[in-house]
Amino acid sequence: MRQKIVAGNWKMNKTLEEANILASEITGMVADEVKGDVKVIFCVPFPYLLPIKNQLGNNARISVGAQNCSEHESGAYTGETSAAMLKSLGVPYVILGHSERRQYFGEDAALLAKKTDIALKHGLTPIFCCGEPLEVRESNGHEALVKKQVEESLFHLDADTIKKIIIAYEPVWAIGTGKTASAQQAQDMHAVIRKHLASKYGQAVADSIAILYGGSVNAANAKELFACPDVDGGLVGGASLKSREFAEVIKGA
Ligand code: PEP
Repeated sequence: MRQKIVAGNWKMNKTLEEANILASEITGMVADEVKGDVKVIFCVPFPYLLPIKNQLGNNARISVGAQNCSEHESGAYTGETSAAMLKSLGVPYVILGHSERRQYFGEDAALLAKKTDIALKHGLTPIFCCGEPLEVRESNGHEALVKKQVEESLFHLDADTIKKIIIAYEPVWAIGTGKTASAQQAQDMHAVIRKHLASKYGQAVADSIAILYGGSVNAANAKELFACPDVDGGLVGGASLKSREFAEVIKGA
């Protein structure tokens, strides 16, 4: 059985002081209230990775993740952060291919394949994001596009390696808009992604890969979304910035 995972994407929010308070409030709530085997990840801005990681100590249920890494190993790339640097901080996870990176920073499939490779090379677990914009959903091209995104950036991996990836399906029209995919829409797309993985790697490998849903997940809708058989938890933006709300989301997993 796949473990449920709830990752919070803090994006470019919070001062260090606010970040420390948020992490400590959620940690307290998770310890007191959340039962069961849910993995929680705080994907925080780069400068907060170490402070928040240190604050968590050896918490077995909560880890930190980065929101991006460079496709380059090292060198003259001012402003960039490498996978090796993240590894050296003891960061286990990195979000790759978030739709905001694709949209505002022009990240394409080939670049994301490189970022995936370098993250894996350094022992990080990529949380690979895919998802369609509204116009593609409306013209019924969503399944084809998401399959293509997964294929183009991940299908060069061998079966043992793709098992190390977490996939996050995040329809762009649902991110930060308050408009969530219905549980049926999420389940349908997750099943499509899993079937696509199975067609390339076999059912056992496909069944071992966690596929998270992202897009306006909140305390009110998390339980229904996470109950879908192919939805293995969530990647959560706005609701992860409010401790009570995020704790309720985690409880829904
Ligand atoms: C995200 O940014 O990954 C996300 C899903 O954001 P939100 O939950 O705010 O829609």
